[in-house]
Amino acid sequence: MLLTANYVYIPVFVYNILVGPLVSTTTHHIRIRKCERCNKYKRVLFVVNDQNICEDCLRGLAFYETFKEGFKDLSLRGDVIEVGIDIGNITWLNPFAQCWYYPLLYWMFTKDTGIKCYYEDLKRLWKYKTPLDKVLKIYEDERIFKIINEDNKRVIVEGDALDDMYKKYGDRQDAYDIICAWVSGLIISRLHEEAEAPDFRAVNGIIKALAEKTVDAEGNIKVKPYAKTVSYRCRLCGARYSTADEVKRHCMSHHLIPSDEVMAYVEGESTIVGYLLELEYLFDVLEKEGVSPERFNDRMMKFGILVHRDPEVPWKIHQECKWYLIVSPAWIRVIARTKTRERELIRSYERVR
Ligand SMILES: [Zn+2]
Ligand SMILES: [Zn+2]
Repeated sequence: MLLTANYVYIPVFVYNILVGPLVSTTTHHIRIRKCERCNKYKRVLFVVNDQNICEDCLRGLAFYETFKEGFKDLSLRGDVIEVGIDIGNITWLNPFAQCWYYPLLYWMFTKDTGIKCYYEDLKRLWKYKTPLDKVLKIYEDERIFKIINEDNKRVIVEGDALDDMYKKYGDRQDAYDIICAWVSGLIISRLHEEAEAPDFRAVNGIIKALAEKTVDAEGNIKVKPYAKTVSYRCRLCGARYSTADEVKRHCMSHHLIPSDEVMAYVEGESTIVGYLLELEYLFDVLEKEGVSPERFNDRMMKFGILVHRDPEVPWKIHQECKWYLIVSPAWIRVIARTKTRERELIRSYERVR
């Protein structure tokens, strides 16, 4: 009897300490609910596909859909491939990620050597904790692979989606790079919604930082662009030259402009190389996600992750006592699309309701 009494007493006591103050404040009633996707407790949940999900999961879902649909959209396809290559480079050495890439690497090996990709061979080579079937299920769901039966043996062959990619890019030297980028981006962003899959914190951190700082809720870019002058134009006749001196000489000889007035007729034409993101802010977000900024920085500098692709422009610039990263427009456009997709996901539910 005594034991039972103690057993009951302690939880109630603990319960009162923990929950008491919350229950008594009737005016500030705080409801903390569990996200049905990641199982974390959050204050704000959104209803998407009849599930209560948190903001992080909503963003992850929107990013995955943007990535997946981006391959069918000509205006976004190049951006999605660039982002996918970066995601591959961020996660490539992550021990959790390796098992997710292994089937693709094995498939490429069989393709190159002209042997059949047998399920049993792959199974024999499998040395990861995550079961092979679980990994292959996502490859099948995403139509990267399909498994067929041939002479009582299971053979892994290209699924419709990979077949499509192979038809489009197979004739290029960098076909495997593009296919790798596509698969890494697709799988890593897809894993975001798998409750028990490892979350790839660096990728999440980047998406989070860019989504908060660079694009507004409508998908408009709200950070400063970094522009570079690519050519010079004569304002009078529109002739183009690669340097300002050439167009000055042109104006003086063709239009007889005096040398002290000539600059008024020279117009620089520029292109946007990238968008500025405060480096310290990015590192803060990554650190909150549990990613070491130093290690991320090393990787970023080694592989050119997140930054623009112009060899003449540096990756970081110092302005008003702060360091800024010049982020690739591809990432910004993919994040802009992600944010509009987030809103569509929420709205589509509201319409149904
Ligand atoms: Zn969640
Ligand atoms: Zn001219």
